Amino acid sequence: MNLSMKTISSHTLAKVTCLLSAIALVACFAASVNSQDSPTGSAIGKGNNDDSGNGDFFTNAISGAVSDTASEATSSGKKSADESDEDEEDEIEEPPYTPKTKSELQKMLTPIQFKVTQNEETEPAFRNKYWDNKKEGIYRCIVCGQSLFSSDTKYKSGTGWPSFYDTIKPDHVGLKSDFHLFYPRKEVHCSRCNAHLGHVFDDGPKETTGKRYCMNSAAMTFEPLSEKKQAGAKESDKSGSDE
Ligand SMILES: [Zn+2]
Repeated sequence: MNLSMKTISSHTLAKVTCLLSAIALVACFAASVNSQDSPTGSAIGKGNNDDSGNGDFFTNAISGAVSDTASEATSSGKKSADESDEDEEDEIEEPPYTPKTKSELQKMLTPIQFKVTQNEETEPAFRNKYWDNKKEGIYRCIVCGQSLFSSDTKYKSGTGWPSFYDTIKPDHVGLKSDFHLFYPRKEVHCSRCNAHLGHVFDDGPKETTGKRYCMNSAAMTFEPLSEKKQAGAKESDKSGSDE
C-alpha cells in the first residue's frame, strides 16, 4: 500500500514537472516570437520579464542610454551657450572612487574616522570638528569624497553634532533600519562606499523637510566654498543691488 502510494506520488510529481517545463517552453517560444516581431521596439519595459530577448534588450538599452547621453550633452551645451557660467558653478564635481580594503582604510583614516564609518560608532557630542562650523561649503564623505550635504541646509539643532535638514542629492545617501538602541533608528550611509555617516530623525525644522540628519563630523570632510566662487557670489550680489 505504502509502496503504491509512493509510486503514484512520484508519478504525479513527474507529470507536474513535465507540465511545468512544457509551460515554460511555450512561454519561451511566445516571448521569442514576440521579440522577433518588433526588433526595434523598446525592449526596456519588456526586458524585465523576457529572458529570451536578452540580445535585443541590451542593444536597445545601450542605444537608449547613448541617445540619453547625447540629448543631455546637447541640452547642457545649449545651457552654457545661452546662459552665463553660473550653472556650471552650481555643478558639484565628484571625485573618482576606487573601493578600498579594510586594511587600506585603516591606514587612510584616523581611529575615530575608521570606528565611525566602518563600525557604525558615534563620536562624542560637541567634541567633534563640524558641529559648530558655520562656514559656507559642502560636506563630503571622508572615505570616497562623494558630496553629501551643503552648508545651506545645516542648522543649529543643539545636539552637538552637525545637523542638516536635507541631503545635497537624495541618491547620495542610503538608509537602513538600525536596532542598536532600544528604539529603532534610521541609519544613514554613503550610497557610494557604504561608509556609516549617522542617523536621520523626524524632528527637524518643521518649516523645511522636518528631517534631522544627525551626522558624525568624523565621517565627513568639509570643502569650503572656493574663493573664486565666493568672489563671484559677491559680485552678483553687488550687481543685483545696483540695478
Ligand atoms: Zn563614501
